[in-house]
Amino acid sequence: MLLQPIWDLMLSQSSVMHSPFFPLIFSLLVYLTFCLPFLLLDLLASRCALVRSFKLQPQSSVSWTAVRSCLALTLYNHLVFIFPLTVLHWYLRPEHLPEEAPPLPRLLAQVLVCLLLFDFQSFVWHLLHHKVPWLYRNFHKVHHTYTSTSALTAEYSSAWETLSLGLFAAVSPELLGCHPLTKLTFFTLNIWLSVEDHCGYDLPWSTHRLVPFGLYGGAPHHDLHHLKSKFNFAPYFTHWDRLAGTLYLQD
Ligand SMILES: [Zn+2]
Ligand SMILES: [Zn+2]
Repeated sequence: MLLQPIWDLMLSQSSVMHSPFFPLIFSLLVYLTFCLPFLLLDLLASRCALVRSFKLQPQSSVSWTAVRSCLALTLYNHLVFIFPLTVLHWYLRPEHLPEEAPPLPRLLAQVLVCLLLFDFQSFVWHLLHHKVPWLYRNFHKVHHTYTSTSALTAEYSSAWETLSLGLFAAVSPELLGCHPLTKLTFFTLNIWLSVEDHCGYDLPWSTHRLVPFGLYGGAPHHDLHHLKSKFNFAPYFTHWDRLAGTLYLQD
């Protein structure tokens, strides 16, 4: 059992994981930690040509006003909408923490399935909220405030969009009966990928460069969505946009 030592360590902090504040603090802390290195790159980009050369839209820059308003909306959505729902879930369905860790191959397979399901659910939601003008105006337009992406724009969304995507992320591991460690691994990876999607940089180690055959769109794919709006509706992989004829790749 490769994961048992990690899981034992986490079980020793089970009071933290059983706290009603855990989901809120976990998602905010992980999100802001992942945004931080990209914020530092944004600071460097105005002074360093090498950093700027990795930017997807080199002429764009991130203002402090944008940083402040992104942080304010993220905190507002988390405190006003996500927190009460996670407390309700904590009260109605307390998380059972088993003694045994999951086998590593099962954890990896379930995380991949969760990711593919999240990608599909988000693709359908996203396409629908672009094709129906009323849905776009009322629920998705907020996320398109910025035509160039930067890490903190990942969660610059309406409450409905934040809750929908949060629900998609939460439902799949429940349906698959995932171990709590598998769920946390998927949530962490999902937050990382959504931040990377919006980071505004095409770095040599970016996920789309690590996944072969152009199966993964990543940051360039999603940055083009913010720029052009009519293409690239899936958040991560390219197969749904390829099938729907909505895939747009950089010229
Ligand atoms: Zn976006
Ligand atoms: Zn969109």
